[in-house]
Amino acid sequence: MKKDKILVIGACGQIGVELTLALRKMYGDANVIASDLREEHDLLKGSGPYVSLDVMNKEMLHVLVIRHNITQIYLLAAILSATGEKNPLLAWHINMASLLNVLDIAKEEGLDKIYWPSSIAVFGPNSPKADTPQHTIIEPTTIYGISKFAGERWCEYYNTRYGIDVRSLRYPGLISYKSAPGGGTTDYAVEIYHEALEEGSYKCFLSEDTYLPMMYMPDAIRATIELMEADSAKISVRSGYNLSGMSFSPKEIAGAIREHIPTFSISYEPDYRQQIADGWPQSIDDELASADWGWKPEFNLEKMTADMLKNLRLQKG
Ligand code: NAD
Repeated sequence: MKKDKILVIGACGQIGVELTLALRKMYGDANVIASDLREEHDLLKGSGPYVSLDVMNKEMLHVLVIRHNITQIYLLAAILSATGEKNPLLAWHINMASLLNVLDIAKEEGLDKIYWPSSIAVFGPNSPKADTPQHTIIEPTTIYGISKFAGERWCEYYNTRYGIDVRSLRYPGLISYKSAPGGGTTDYAVEIYHEALEEGSYKCFLSEDTYLPMMYMPDAIRATIELMEADSAKISVRSGYNLSGMSFSPKEIAGAIREHIPTFSISYEPDYRQQIADGWPQSIDDELASADWGWKPEFNLEKMTADMLKNLRLQKG
C-alpha cells in the first residue's frame, strides 16, 4: 500500500497553521510537509518538515511533489476577499493559477486526494439570504467570489473528466486565536476579541446588524479532516460543500463579549467591506454535508466566545 504523504501549501496562514498541526498528529510529523511563501510560522517550527514554495512556480511544485512522493495536497494559498478587491487581476491570477497548477500535477502524477477550500463568497446578492441552499442562484460580485466559483467548476471538471479525488468546503468566516486572519471581510470577528482584551472597545468596519455565517476554527479543522477521511463513494459534491457553524451580527458578538467583559463597548464605522458583506448570505443550509459525511458543528457564539477569551488571556499573559 502507498504511504500517505501530504503537502500543505499556504501552511503559514490562518487555517494552514492549525490544519498542518492537526494533520501531523494524524499522519505523523515527517509525513506532512508544510510550505508557504512566508517564513515558517513560529507555531510550526520544530513540528515537522518545512519548505519555501511559491505555488505559482509550477515546475518547482512539480519537482517537490515527485521528490517527496506526495500523495495528497491541501492547497490553502489564496488572495482573500477584502485584499482581492484592492487588486482584482492579481487575485484572479493567483487564485486560478495556483489551483490549476495543483489540479494538473494531480492528474499527471496520479495523486490520491486534493483539498481546496471554496467560500460562502461564491454566493451573491441574488442568492437567497437565509439558509442559502447548496444549489441555488450563484452570482458572485467580488473577484474573490468569482475566482472561488470558477475554482469549484474546475474541481468538478477534473473529478468527472480525469477522476481526480478533489474535495472542497465553502467555509464561512473563520474565527481563531492561534494565527492571524489574512484579509477577509469577516476578520472583524477575530479583531474584536483582541481589542476587547487590549482596549476594552472596538470600532467595527461592518454595521451592527450585518449577519454573516461564521465558524470557530476547531470546527473548521474537524470538518476538513472529516471530509477528507470520508469514503469517496459518499462524496456527492465535487464543487464545494455548503458548511454551517453559526450566524451572528457585530451587535450580537459584542453582547456575547459583554457577558465576560461588562464594560466592553463597540462603535460602527462601515467601510468598503460592508458592500462585500451585504452581497453574502446570512446563514447557510448544509444539509448535504450532514447527510453525506455526517457533519455537525460543536461551537455556538457563547461557547466560542468563552473559549476565545480564555485562550487569548493565556496568550497575552
Ligand atoms: P491566509 O491569507 O491566512 O493564508 C494564506 C497563506 O498562503 C499565507 O500564509 C500566504 O503567505 C500563502 N501564500 C500566498 N500566496 C502564496 C504563493 N504564491 N505560494 C505559496 N503560498 C502562498 O488565508 P486563510 O484564511 O488561511 O485561507 C486559506 C484558504 O481558505 C483560502 O483558499 C481561503 O480563500 C479559504 N477561506 C478562508 C476563510 C477564512 O475565514 N479564513 C473563509 C473562506 C475560505
